[in-house]
Amino acid sequence: MTNPAEDVFGELIGQDAVVAQLRAAAADAPAARAGQPSTAMTHAWLITGPPGSGRSTAALALATALVCPTGGCGTCEECMLVRHSSHADVEHVIPEGVDYLRAEADALMHSAALAPTRSLWHVFVLEDADRLTEVVGNSMLKSIEEPTPGTVWILCAPSAQDVLPTIRSRCRHVTLATPSTTAVAAGLVSSLGVDPAMASFAARASQGHIGRARALATDEAARLRRQDVLRIPLQLGDLGSCLALAADLVETVNADAAAMCDPLDAREDAALRAVYGDGAQGKGLGTVERRAKGAFKDMQERHKRRRRRVVRDQLDRAIVDLIGFYRDVLVIQLGAHTELVNAEMRPQIERVASASQPPETLLRVDALERTRNLLAANVPALLAFESLTVTLKDPSLASSGAVRRDRVTG
Ligand SMILES: [Zn+2]
Repeated sequence: MTNPAEDVFGELIGQDAVVAQLRAAAADAPAARAGQPSTAMTHAWLITGPPGSGRSTAALALATALVCPTGGCGTCEECMLVRHSSHADVEHVIPEGVDYLRAEADALMHSAALAPTRSLWHVFVLEDADRLTEVVGNSMLKSIEEPTPGTVWILCAPSAQDVLPTIRSRCRHVTLATPSTTAVAAGLVSSLGVDPAMASFAARASQGHIGRARALATDEAARLRRQDVLRIPLQLGDLGSCLALAADLVETVNADAAAMCDPLDAREDAALRAVYGDGAQGKGLGTVERRAKGAFKDMQERHKRRRRRVVRDQLDRAIVDLIGFYRDVLVIQLGAHTELVNAEMRPQIERVASASQPPETLLRVDALERTRNLLAANVPALLAFESLTVTLKDPSLASSGAVRRDRVTG
């Protein structure tokens, strides 16, 4: 019998109710596959929760439990194969670009029509189901509503509202909560052996984002980048300094994205060159050259999309950190007895708090939320951040309407 403390669901931090629900589904799955009626198991799931709450961990835990003969022991061959992303019956899909592409959806549906090869279930875990556009999502409806026997869809998204109504109505909805700081810190100590003080800092600073908490607890560079972002509110001076801070941030994020994407791009480029080679000879040469050209063009487009996405995710993270900062300012201004996200910056936060009033702080938070929406709408990052730093310096600009055009145009 699987030891519940060590099985695949053990990695979900602070989500007891969801874990119970998914365990029940896994326990019922063999009977459901045999055609018996089941209330706990179903063929389409939508797992939602704020970023970092563990959506993909939950989805992959359920996927693993469905292909493991003992419901997700975490140690057998099936479980190991899923862990190393090489299980033939578990497909973990992360959209390459900002949205799912028609070609990606077509490939998925083709694959979903096939029966599982080595397990009872053929499981598709789709990350970022909120990135399914109407055309692409609707092309998948039939496959999600009446899948091939044995096929299971597990979709992940920040919230149900972010997902096409046609898709979410066909799924069973599971909601993850933001895990408590205490639960995240305890998880870091037990799973990574992180020092308790560091774990507590990382849990607070990540505001319940588990992946981010792990990075902050273990990666010095991530901690330094975060510090740079949090210095922005303290360095806002004249217009020139605001623009320079925005430029610095965007430049750093682009450099980070390059550091992350360049080696991946180079590796994929080399792999594709190995396929098409320089050694083609004779009659087939023209065809090979034409195909190679198409393949390289596709690859370069993919690389561009990936880089855009990495940049966008990092910019979003900076905004979340800044929202945490101004939330702390508000906590001090209102005299609330709540733990500060950035407790180690209390003196600086108190300085900002005493130099302004709560309505201004709210306008600043509002400006940050607006920047987030601008980035989601693909407004150039530098422009969005220049407008942001100028508004953070003088939030009355926002209320006067000078930088509010986005509200009007939607
Ligand atoms: Zn197992």
